[in-house]
Amino acid sequence: MTLPPAATTPDQDENEPREECGVFGVWAPGEDVAKLTYYGLYALQHRGQEAAGIAVADGSQVLVFKDLGLVSQVFDEQTLASMPGYVAVGHCRYSTTGSTTWENAQPIFRTTAVGTGLALGHNGNLVNTAELSARARELGLISGRLAGNMAATSDSDVMTALLAHAAADKSIEQAAMELLPTLRGAFCLTFMDEHTLYAARDPHGVRPLCLGRLDRGWVVASETAALDIVGASFVREIEPGELLAIDADGVRSSRFANPTPKGCVFEYVYLARPDSTISGRSVHATRVDIGRRLADEHPIDADLVIPVPESGTPAAVGYAQGSGVPYGQGLMKNAYAARTFIQPSQTIRQLGIRLKLNPLREVIRGKRLIVVDDSIVRGNTQRALIRMLREAGALEIHVRIASPPVKWPCFYGIDFASRAELIANGAGPDGIEGTSLDEMVEGVRRSIGADSLGYISLEGMVAATEQPRSRLCCACFDGEYPIALPTEAAIGKNLLEGMLSGASESELLADNANVDALSRPWEGLRKKPRH
Ligand code: SF4
Repeated sequence: MTLPPAATTPDQDENEPREECGVFGVWAPGEDVAKLTYYGLYALQHRGQEAAGIAVADGSQVLVFKDLGLVSQVFDEQTLASMPGYVAVGHCRYSTTGSTTWENAQPIFRTTAVGTGLALGHNGNLVNTAELSARARELGLISGRLAGNMAATSDSDVMTALLAHAAADKSIEQAAMELLPTLRGAFCLTFMDEHTLYAARDPHGVRPLCLGRLDRGWVVASETAALDIVGASFVREIEPGELLAIDADGVRSSRFANPTPKGCVFEYVYLARPDSTISGRSVHATRVDIGRRLADEHPIDADLVIPVPESGTPAAVGYAQGSGVPYGQGLMKNAYAARTFIQPSQTIRQLGIRLKLNPLREVIRGKRLIVVDDSIVRGNTQRALIRMLREAGALEIHVRIASPPVKWPCFYGIDFASRAELIANGAGPDGIEGTSLDEMVEGVRRSIGADSLGYISLEGMVAATEQPRSRLCCACFDGEYPIALPTEAAIGKNLLEGMLSGASESELLADNANVDALSRPWEGLRKKPRH
């Protein structure tokens, strides 16, 4: 099956931040590991909708099947039935480094120098890809111009190549223990050879990764919800800086770096499934608590609290609890909008937000509404939504946002798309200039047409996670990057395409200026604005 490389669905809203990837792995003799991985990926579909893949092994060979599209589009019964084995890894992808091509779909497969197979799935984003890529090219592991050989162009491919190369005179486990400390950035990995499942998490633990137990084996997954869906019991999180190897000898744990936890706070407020738990804290409970704190921080006299479904729902419930204003459903979401790859016609496209959300007129007519949403990125969605609610008879619309303003780009695996989207930063046509937080909020309020607007404070959001501030990354909100960033030439989603096509550093810089969110204020990346 071949889908257009940049296929998007009406539900893949360019105004929304995009998750980076989901990884899954299972070692379970006697189980249908391909099907378990399929359902694990199905549970992680929200983490990547561009491509999906599964690798299986039965002790003698590694077999990989992957393609562009949703998990349910890539796999069918017949394909899964042709993938026997007792160890498997799976991946669903949204690209943060490298473009949307079949070659960049994962798991990435490489043959080691001794002829064994290696399949790897990666969630996160490295910040030293240029350095690693240079090392891989020196070793002759990646080469050629992109157009000629359709080489994979992801940071994941570079690390797989280096790992396969290092396994020439040592075990994959030993090779991983040498390679992993040289990777910088965010990475949760599941990888395998013919016999063994491996899982590794970067020393900062930016992205979540957990270990689960089956009656006859073990599972690793990006989120605990995926363990629930395959009937595995939660054992523990894989520690930052830890490598696990799982085979017939059991589970072996090794430390490749000292842990310095900096978990992504955005996982709690937006990215992870609400039925997942991260660092012992329920994502759903965090979001409800954020809503309660929003009610304290930004109270308003109104008749009804409604969520922007589904992601705004827990915070809206919390806001209603905290404020005493009744909660109701005022918007219906078409849950199947994401299931089609048919591009809407111009007539349908003009309906815009109605493809996804439709107002319940009898609920909202004549009411003063508090509308709770998870985030404002570009503001287009909220602007259309508010217009729709006013047309449906709302008297007042007070918007409450369950995350602070996103002002800085993420280099650790979340794509906030183009620089024009960050309405709170002043970059791009919709950007709101302002010298203080109050001015910025007032500018956004006017831009989206709300009667009032309030964001949860950074302190309120962090408190709701019940994690110490020192163990969280909040860089997209406060500009404090916990993992050192390389020079601007070495950052950018299309970095490797540029290197492979022979682009100069200045050309890469120019390209980055076009593709990276907030690339203009490079000088200020490590200097956060204070309001
Ligand atoms: S910059 Fe934001 S989205 Fe990226 S890891 Fe840090 S908190 Fe998460």
